[in-house]
Amino acid sequence: MSVFDELLANNQSYAQSFNYGDLPAPPRRHIAIVTCMDARIDPISALGLDLGDAHVIRNAGGRITEDVIRSLVISQQLLGTREVAIIQHTKCGMLSFTNEQLRDKIKQDLNVDASGLDFLPFTSHEESLREDIRKLLGSGLLAKDTIITPAIYDVETGRIHKVEI
Ligand SMILES: [Zn+2]
Repeated sequence: MSVFDELLANNQSYAQSFNYGDLPAPPRRHIAIVTCMDARIDPISALGLDLGDAHVIRNAGGRITEDVIRSLVISQQLLGTREVAIIQHTKCGMLSFTNEQLRDKIKQDLNVDASGLDFLPFTSHEESLREDIRKLLGSGLLAKDTIITPAIYDVETGRIHKVEI
């Protein structure tokens, strides 16, 4: 039995009291949140959101990638969001390795050359947030009136604060 099989059992009870079946797809708060996949972050609870309120786009580090831009364009053009929050967090795993280290590990473990892959690790929240916002604006694919807010979530306190960059 896989972990997912156990989770499916949990889902049975979730579905029993589920009463959000009529929610429209466009997020009610018109916001898309980009954040890290870190298991210690629950963006919905941490921001007082409810089901149907926001898009949450997650990846390792909460970095702006081509695929995040793809999702944001769909979020804005087809589902009406106009605000983007990019939330990194303290003690992020992305602060703990370099591309070279991970490529070496992949070579050792899988015997695959991953030299063409940028895993987007970083050493500074401010720098990487600045770089990501530059990438986002540089794409030219966001609505002109988009509000973009960089922020950091503290995994030890649960607090989120805006970052001036
Ligand atoms: Zn992280």
